[in-house]
Amino acid sequence: MRAVQIHGPGAIALAEVPDPTPGPGQVLVRVHACGVCRTDLHELDGEVAIPHPPVIPGHQVVGTVLDCESGALATGVRVGIPWLGWACGVCTFCLAGQENLCERARFTGRDIDGGYAQLTVADERFCFPLPPRYGDLEAAPLLCAGLIGFRALRLAGEGERVGLYGFGASAHLIAQVARAEGRRVFAFTRPDDAPTQAFARSLGAAWAGGSDEAPPEELDAAIIFAAAGELVPTALAAVRPGAAVVCAGIHMSAIPSFPYELLWGERVLRSVANLTREDAREFLAVAERVALRTTVRPYPLEQAAQALEDLRHGRFDGAAVLDLRPARRR
Ligand SMILES: [Zn+2]
Ligand SMILES: [Zn+2]
Repeated sequence: MRAVQIHGPGAIALAEVPDPTPGPGQVLVRVHACGVCRTDLHELDGEVAIPHPPVIPGHQVVGTVLDCESGALATGVRVGIPWLGWACGVCTFCLAGQENLCERARFTGRDIDGGYAQLTVADERFCFPLPPRYGDLEAAPLLCAGLIGFRALRLAGEGERVGLYGFGASAHLIAQVARAEGRRVFAFTRPDDAPTQAFARSLGAAWAGGSDEAPPEELDAAIIFAAAGELVPTALAAVRPGAAVVCAGIHMSAIPSFPYELLWGERVLRSVANLTREDAREFLAVAERVALRTTVRPYPLEQAAQALEDLRHGRFDGAAVLDLRPARRR
């Protein structure tokens, strides 16, 4: 099959590799689409380490089951494969419902080959049926941008006024979820990025501006999707006492020192790490109920490196998705 592999920092290449074969408890999946995530870019840049390179990246995989040894998933069923590819089930985290923190967790597209490929294999217990209302390309960003963004929104609390710093793949979905929950969204983009601010308003944001601007009112919560540590003091300064600032990315540049007054007043600063299967079930049920408009920029597999560069430079709104469907199905 054809696949894109990351060999090390800066080294990404399309290759012809042997078809994967499913082991016990695994399914073989024909990939239709795979979302491109900032984490993939962090892997390429060496900011997220790949334990055993080369690896096929991609953890927002949409495909159909070709073969399921146990019969738990029927052939032809469409599934999504997210970042959490395996958890031990017996450590203190797993037993406490925090499998996202499992010390032995294995992640799709980092520890396990992912979806930048025509075929992939996955643990059947970590595959999820997808809401039929979404096409293959539209469903892909739900699997990380949506899912981990949703976990971040939950950890941000119930407050009405939610600030989203970095209005990319995650924020464009989570803004809609927040709106459906009756909240108001304040979108922060790169300074002077008027098109992305207009995009945010088109998705229901009450206000959109540059990250160098103060919001028109105090926020009840903030989520930082951008990988820029300097946004942490900025966001803390924008939220009310008792509010949470949630860092939703897997990597962030160093956080500059800031006066304690910004944290004072029981403000909470926390990160979000990975996801649990419960998060996936809960978020996909929301996506079934609420018609989320997913804005996608499709790329063929051969242009995966270009998709990552475009993501790096913010050249599109919404989410980049690799389209692996045969030409006749597009
Ligand atoms: Zn991701
Ligand atoms: Zn565990």
